[in-house]
Amino acid sequence: MPDPQDLERRTTELLQRLIRFNTVNPPGNEEECQVFLRDLLQGAGFEVELLAAVEGRPNLVARLPSGSDGPVLCFLGHVDTVLADPADWTVDPWSAEIRDGCVWGRGALDMKSQVAAEVAAAVALAQEGWRPESGELKLVITADEETGAEHGAQWLCERHTDKVRADLVVNEGAGETFAYGDKRLYGVCAGEKGVFRFTLATSGRAGHASIPRIGDNALTKMAPVLEALAAARVVPEHSPEPDAFFAALGLDASDLERALAEVEATDPRVAVLLEPMLGVTMTPTMIAASQKINVIPARAELRVDCRVPPELGEEHALERIHAAVGDGYDISFAETVVGNRSPIDTPFMESIREFVSREDPGAAVTPVVLPGFSDSRWFREAFPDCVAYGFFPQKEMDLFEAAPLVHGADERVPIADLGLAARFYANLAEETLK
Ligand SMILES: [Zn+2]
Repeated sequence: MPDPQDLERRTTELLQRLIRFNTVNPPGNEEECQVFLRDLLQGAGFEVELLAAVEGRPNLVARLPSGSDGPVLCFLGHVDTVLADPADWTVDPWSAEIRDGCVWGRGALDMKSQVAAEVAAAVALAQEGWRPESGELKLVITADEETGAEHGAQWLCERHTDKVRADLVVNEGAGETFAYGDKRLYGVCAGEKGVFRFTLATSGRAGHASIPRIGDNALTKMAPVLEALAAARVVPEHSPEPDAFFAALGLDASDLERALAEVEATDPRVAVLLEPMLGVTMTPTMIAASQKINVIPARAELRVDCRVPPELGEEHALERIHAAVGDGYDISFAETVVGNRSPIDTPFMESIREFVSREDPGAAVTPVVLPGFSDSRWFREAFPDCVAYGFFPQKEMDLFEAAPLVHGADERVPIADLGLAARFYANLAEETLK
């Protein structure tokens, strides 16, 4: 096991280097950053390849094989980030300044921090001569995650399936601690919701807007739809992760409505994050009607961002949509991506539990479902038997502090959490590949 202080220092310095590469996607420009990581990993003894779907935007695949059969453990991460407007920030988003015990900059949480911790752990292990006794340690560092992975994980899993094949994948998605009453928990992201964005259309008859009743206004017909969506609450459904989540909170999940109400009463912040895990959500975000101010619209279109629990499809989404807004509307899906999940009772989950109980005695671990999605979905799809979890442990900065900083201004990560995460990845490699 690498020296913890040395590992924390290496991770911090590596994160600073990574933040200073501007990899805002679009356009991404990940090449310089990936070449830097390739040289670092190669220098430590890894076999490294850069694989690019488009020029200037390579993905990185690094391997440390053992030569004997065993599981392939994959550290997954992406190096592209969302944009940052320096005017909104206290520091330059690409300066990687250290202030108040944190590294500041775009990507400090999502997710150059995890990439730095994964790479620093792998490099430190390899440099001290550690090699897997069986199986293989693999690092897959992707480009193009933030705009949908077309040139990143999706492309790798489809076009270089054998090169990225893995049995165990650790990626982003959860890991920040949060308190509930007198309990302290760490989430492990075991599944991701599906995306079923749809357009709901109303129709009527055009006419001159100066004579309101000469036409039939399609836009005003949206009023009841918007009111229904504003009032709609998630219809809670049983599934493995939220059931385990309630159990970890010490609540009886047989009546989900009641259990959710109890969480709401104890800590509404937990309820806000828990609710999307329990069922279909529908958030109206865009509306369009007449092209001209003086024309009564014959058609109006409302676009709704709809997210559906893992493994459920269009039929289930439609059922919930009709139950919320009623029948008689023209509904068409713009995207129908079914979410996926990994099993939650695995040795992998057990090793996360053991790590947490060593580092933070008394704290518990609970599976969670990500309301959005990450690169894990491509790995679960390509390798149905693999177990992919999102876990970047954070103890110093909790979930409620970290969540608004992701994709937000003044994104930062405590140095202590970088050390904690790097210890986790080093430990996971040693324990899994022995
Ligand atoms: Zn991310």
